[in-house]
Amino acid sequence: MVIVAIAIGYKNFKREKSTDERFECMECKYIYNPKFGNEKAGIKPGTAFDDLPDDWVCPVCGQGKEMFEIHGE
Ligand SMILES: [Zn+2]
Repeated sequence: MVIVAIAIGYKNFKREKSTDERFECMECKYIYNPKFGNEKAGIKPGTAFDDLPDDWVCPVCGQGKEMFEIHGE
């Protein structure tokens, strides 16, 4: 049990590291941060932008995912 929990935790950690990219809405400048997700829309923290459902829209202006671009540091 313990080993499984550690393995899952490690996997999640690795996943979070690789899905750390933030995306910015070109319409309203809203930034989607995978660390926080979008809980009002049922998106759990740790959800990568690529893993968002296709019908997810910007919570601010309602534009679809195609209006988002990667937010460089
Ligand atoms: Zn927007």
